[in-house]
Amino acid sequence: MSTIEHLECLIIGSGPAGYTAAIYAARADMKPVMYQGLQPGGQLTTTNEVENFPGYPQGVTGPEMMMQLEEQAKRFDTDIRSGFITKVDFSGDIHKCWTENGTEIHAETVIISTGASAKYLGLESEQKYLKLGGGVSACAVCDGFFYRNQETIIVGAGDSACEEAHYLSKLCTKVTMLVRRDEFRASKIMAERVMKTPNIEILFNTETLEVLGDGQLVTGARVQNIQTKEERTIPATGFFVAIGHQPNTEIFKDFIDLDETGYIKYEQPGSSKTNVPGVFVAGDAADRTYRQAITAAGTGCMAALDAERYLAAKHS
Ligand code: NDP
Repeated sequence: MSTIEHLECLIIGSGPAGYTAAIYAARADMKPVMYQGLQPGGQLTTTNEVENFPGYPQGVTGPEMMMQLEEQAKRFDTDIRSGFITKVDFSGDIHKCWTENGTEIHAETVIISTGASAKYLGLESEQKYLKLGGGVSACAVCDGFFYRNQETIIVGAGDSACEEAHYLSKLCTKVTMLVRRDEFRASKIMAERVMKTPNIEILFNTETLEVLGDGQLVTGARVQNIQTKEERTIPATGFFVAIGHQPNTEIFKDFIDLDETGYIKYEQPGSSKTNVPGVFVAGDAADRTYRQAITAAGTGCMAALDAERYLAAKHS
C-alpha cells in the first residue's frame, strides 16, 4: 500500500514565484516542499542576461539567478524535489496531489507557481530546429544577441511580437514580421513603432508553411500570402515565434477557476487566493499582462503570506 505524505505547504513549480514563495514559507516555519516541475528554474533558465531585476546592478544570467534563488530557498530548509505533479483533487479541506511516480500528497496549503509556456506554430520543421537549437526561438530578448548583424523572421502581431521585433531591429540587419491577418492585434502605439522602423518589413496576410534549414541551422522560411496564395522564400538565420503564452494550468482546471485562455483567476483582487480555500497562485500562471521575474517574485511572496495567514486562522 502506498504511503500518503502530509504537508503544511506544497509549492508546485520552481520559477521566481515558486522560489520566493518557498523562501517566505520556510522562514515562517511552514516546512514547504517544492516540486520543481518539468523545467526546473522555469522560463528564466532559457534567458541569457537579466538586467532588470533590482539588486543586480551588473545584470545576472537567468540560470545563475535561478541557482541563487534555489540556494536561498534551501538555506531555510525548503525540501526541493525534482519531479512534477500530474493530478490534483481539491474537492476537500485537504488538498490531494499526486506526483509522476504515484506519491500521494495531502497538503493543507498549495501554492501554484507553474508558470506559462511559449506557444509555437506546431510545424514539424519548426519543432525540428527548435529541438536542435538551430535558430528557432520564442524569446527574442533571450536569444536575439546570437543573430546580431543577421536577418531574422518574427511571427505574431500582438504587443509581444511588436516589442520583440523592435528589439531585434536594433541587433539585426533586417527583420521580417509575419502577420496572419491584415491588421495587428497590438496596441496602436506598439504597432506604429514597428511600422516606422525602417529595417522591419511587415508581411500581412502571411502564414508560415515551412521553416527552412540545412539540417542543422535555420536558413529561412517558406511563406504564403493567404489571399493571393503566392508563395515566397525569406532568407533568415533566426526564426522567432511571438504568438502568446499558454499558462501551465491544465491539471487544475476541474477545481480552479480559469479564464477563457487558461490563466488562473484570482478570487479577490490584491490577494493570491484562488476559488479554493487554501490554494494560492503566484507568477505567470495567473499573469497574462506583466510576466516579469520581479512581478512573479512579488506574487510568490503574497502567496506564502496568504498561506501562512490561512493556516494561522485554521489552527486558531
Ligand atoms: P496576444 O495573444 O496578444 O497576441 C498573439 C498574436 O499572435 C496575435 O496577433 C495572433 O494573431 C498571433 N498568432 C496566434 N497564433 C498564431 C499562429 N498560429 N500563426 C500566426 N500568428 C498567430 O499575445 P502577446 O504575447 O502578444 O500578448 C499577451 C498579453 O501581454 C497582451 O495582453 C499584451 O497586451 C500584453 N503585453 C504587453 C506588452 C506591453 O505593453 N509592453 C508587451 C507584451 C505583451 P491574431 O491577431 O490573428 O489572433
